[in-house]
Amino acid sequence: METKLLQTTSVKNQQAEEKPIILIVDDAPGNIQLLAGLLKHSYQIKVATGGLRCLELAQADPQPDLILLDIQMPDIDGYEVCRQLKAQDKTQKIPVIFVTGKDQAADEELGLTLGAVDYITKPYSPAIVEARINTHITLKKQSDELRRLAMRDQLTGLYNRHFLIDVANKRMSQAHRHQQALCLVMVDVDHFKAVNDEYGHTVGDAVLCEVADVFLEKSRAEDVVARFGGEEFVILLDACGLADAMEKAELLRQSLESRRIQGVAVTASFGVAQFAAAGESFTELLNRADEAVYKAKNNGRNRVEEGA
Ligand code: GH3
Ligand code: MG
Ligand code: MG
Repeated sequence: METKLLQTTSVKNQQAEEKPIILIVDDAPGNIQLLAGLLKHSYQIKVATGGLRCLELAQADPQPDLILLDIQMPDIDGYEVCRQLKAQDKTQKIPVIFVTGKDQAADEELGLTLGAVDYITKPYSPAIVEARINTHITLKKQSDELRRLAMRDQLTGLYNRHFLIDVANKRMSQAHRHQQALCLVMVDVDHFKAVNDEYGHTVGDAVLCEVADVFLEKSRAEDVVARFGGEEFVILLDACGLADAMEKAELLRQSLESRRIQGVAVTASFGVAQFAAAGESFTELLNRADEAVYKAKNNGRNRVEEGA
C-alpha cells in the first residue's frame, strides 16, 4: 500500500513548525532516561520498552522522524524490528539509529546492512550522539520536503499528475486483486480562457485554487484529488462503483455551480469512468473519462457524463 495520503488545502504552508519526534526504544528505563534527558529540549520524545511496541508506535500518526533502537530486547530484537520497519511502506522512510552495547564490527555491519543510517555503541559521548542525531533529523526533514514537492502541484497544493499516475497504478492493481470497484472522475473547468481574458491571470489562478478547495472539501480522505494540468482535475475514487461516482461528480458539479468563486460564476464539465478491471491501463481509463468530458462539453457544459 502506498503511504497514507495526506491532502491539504491551500493552507498547506501554514503548518506549525513543530519539534521533530524521536522514538527511543530500549528495555532498560535507565537508558531511555539518559537519551531522553539529552534530547528533550530540541525534540518531542516517545518511548517504547520493547520491539513490538516500537513497531506499533512507528505506524501511528504522527509518526516519529527518527528511531533510536536498542538491539537486545526480550520480545523481539532490534535487528528484527529494523527489518520489519524497512519492509513496510509506511515506516521504511523513518531513519533508524542503533544505540547498543554490542560493539563488534560484525554487529555493526549487520545493523547497517539492515538499513540503519547509523550505529552508536555504549558507552557513548553525549555531545557526539546529539550531533549525529541532529544531522539525521536534518536529512530526514529535507527528504520529506523533497518528496512533498515532487508529489504536489505548486499552485493548488493538490497532488500532481506524476503522483496521480503512480498512485493510480497501485490502486488499480489493488482493485483488481480485491475485486473492488474503482472510478475516475475527470473535470475540465468551463470557458476558463474567458475567465483569464476577463479578470486576468491572477484571478484565474485564484479561481483554480478555490476550485481545488471545493473538491477537497467534498472528498473523503482516501480519495486522490489531483490537478492533472491547466484547468483539468482528476479525482480517483477507491471502493466506489459507477452509480456512486456519478452521484459524487454531480455533487461536485452542484457545489461549484452554487457558489461564486472570486466573484466569478464558475462551472465545470465532468466525465466519469469505472475501471474495467483486468488488463485496462490507466491511460485507457483516463481516455474513457476524457471522452465523457468531451461529451459533457458537447451537450452544453456544466454537466456530468458517463464514459462508454
Ligand atoms: P472549455 O469550456 O471548452 O474547456 O473552454 P476553456 O476556455 O476552459 O478551454 P481552453 O482549453 O480553450 O482554455 C483553457 C485555458 O486555461 C487556457 C489557459 O490559458 C488556461 N490555463 C491553463 N493553466 C492555467 C493556470 O495555471 N492559470 C491560469 N490562470 N490559467 C490557466
Ligand atoms: Mg482543458
Ligand atoms: Mg476548460
